Amino acid sequence: MSEPARLHALQQLDLRLDAARARLAEIELALSQNAEVQAAQGAADAAKAAQHEQHTALRNAEAEVQAQQQKIANNQRTLYGGSVTNPKELEDLQNEAAALSRHLGALEERQLETMMAFEEAEASLASAQTSLEDTRARVADQNRAMTEEQKVLLTEVAELESDREDSLPEVAAEMLALYQELRGSRAGLAVVAISGNECPACGATLSAAQAQVSRSPTQIARCADCGRILVSA
Ligand SMILES: [Zn+2]
Repeated sequence: MSEPARLHALQQLDLRLDAARARLAEIELALSQNAEVQAAQGAADAAKAAQHEQHTALRNAEAEVQAQQQKIANNQRTLYGGSVTNPKELEDLQNEAAALSRHLGALEERQLETMMAFEEAEASLASAQTSLEDTRARVADQNRAMTEEQKVLLTEVAELESDREDSLPEVAAEMLALYQELRGSRAGLAVVAISGNECPACGATLSAAQAQVSRSPTQIARCADCGRILVSA
């Protein structure tokens, strides 16, 4: 293999490594963050808090109705127990019974409203919990797929790194230094294969002499504009 061809092969290896490593970084990020599950969990937590609040309100409404029923029972016992005989007191007790019954009606109305609100909150909670379970299952599937892809990529990276190690001794030290410098300063792309008369990386037109050199197995041609190494495709 000629020197330019070795550099080009190294470049191809490095581009595949760059792509594999970039995808691995994406996968690691996606596996570590789970915005969807967090959002569904937040909605389920909020629904749980709302359901709890409505449950407390319902219990309070029920307790008020019971207390009112107790007051009415006490009133009726006094009214019909025979201990009160004074007509004015009996009339007061009857008026009190009527007032207590009216208020009981209002309390029962509130209890019914609270019951309906509680049932709605329970339905919302059930829906939020189902949604959370669905999201968890879907994300777990995606994660399984990504974990599989991650395994494949890790194997690929290990193989590419090994190939790269093997190819390095074949590249002249000064060429390798130039290659690394261009990789660092030219967005990872140091070597480009040309087929026409322009640099495929920056678009600069190549002179006939440059094109001629790029076909040489021993000489290194470089783009006059971007400085990248040119090899004949
Ligand atoms: Zn160029």
